[in-house]
Amino acid sequence: MELLGGTRHSSRMIANFAWLRPEPHGLHVVPADCWIDPSRPVARALVTHGHADHARGGHGQTIATPETLAIMELRYQTREGALPVHYGETLRLPGSVEATFVPAGHVLGSAQIVLEHAGERVVVTGDYKRMPDPTCPPFEVVPCDVFVTEATFGLPVFCHPPIEREIGKLLETRADHPERCVLVGAYALGKAQRLIAELRRAGYHDTIWLHGAMERMCRLYEEFGISLGDLRLVTEATKDALRGAIVVCPPSALNDRWSRRLPDPITAMASGWMRVRQRARQRNVELPLVISDHADWGELTRTIEEVDPVESWITHGREEALLRWCQLHQRRAQALALVGYEDEDD
Ligand SMILES: [Zn+2]
Ligand SMILES: [Zn+2]
Repeated sequence: MELLGGTRHSSRMIANFAWLRPEPHGLHVVPADCWIDPSRPVARALVTHGHADHARGGHGQTIATPETLAIMELRYQTREGALPVHYGETLRLPGSVEATFVPAGHVLGSAQIVLEHAGERVVVTGDYKRMPDPTCPPFEVVPCDVFVTEATFGLPVFCHPPIEREIGKLLETRADHPERCVLVGAYALGKAQRLIAELRRAGYHDTIWLHGAMERMCRLYEEFGISLGDLRLVTEATKDALRGAIVVCPPSALNDRWSRRLPDPITAMASGWMRVRQRARQRNVELPLVISDHADWGELTRTIEEVDPVESWITHGREEALLRWCQLHQRRAQALALVGYEDEDD
């Protein structure tokens, strides 16, 4: 763990925050004996959102938004010990700790967790973004003492384009190839629904065809009031019906034999990593769509400025560059070595 000195808030020291301890498998809220996004089963877990690297099954009690709990129930087939907390609601935990869930703008149900204890406030972002997303409420800036921020795209090279531009590319490609179809790889939780909702917002109201693995999560979004328009399963279609269509599948299905049933598909993928040409090539992606549910470099640094914490704890990605940026801007920061976070959800 590397500590960098700063001068901006020299009157306060990080030692004050002994009540929140970064351990390799998660953040331990010591007085309440609970964990944030633990990567192994614990007695009491606070979960920021439903992606598999944050939300695991097997906890004694799981505290999360109703949407996140529903996603976890869908994925782990259990609702035992679930304690729902709505956005803005404050929960009193043992040891005089208060926890409030605040929108993170990442996926349906995603929350920042605001912890208060002994007059100090910590905000844990989980994953977040600042760009608008029709499937979840926007990120809220909460001033705090310690800001635990993700850094998935924590390099200056990452500057996500406006989603309208990427959706435009997708619609143009489809229109140019009426005999073929466009097959878009998108993560089953979040990316797929955002992509579909943005296509609708852009005026595309044809049937969107789904791989079977997408169906239940899309239905769950609709149950929470996110309308996605006419969705049908590819298995219900003839090859001819799919000409000129848009088909959405999990990234893992992009190159497998499943796609042989499609009429000469043009392979696309929606991910922040599509900014990196090599990643697109690895998956044989012809149409890379740079659509990310994480903050890019500009959003990460702007958010630290707006939240203006005494100290930032950087985790979950490319910590070094953001650490250096903090140093250059006289902001105290350290990188956390948490394990078990993957890029499931870019
Ligand atoms: Zn994540
Ligand atoms: Zn995530």
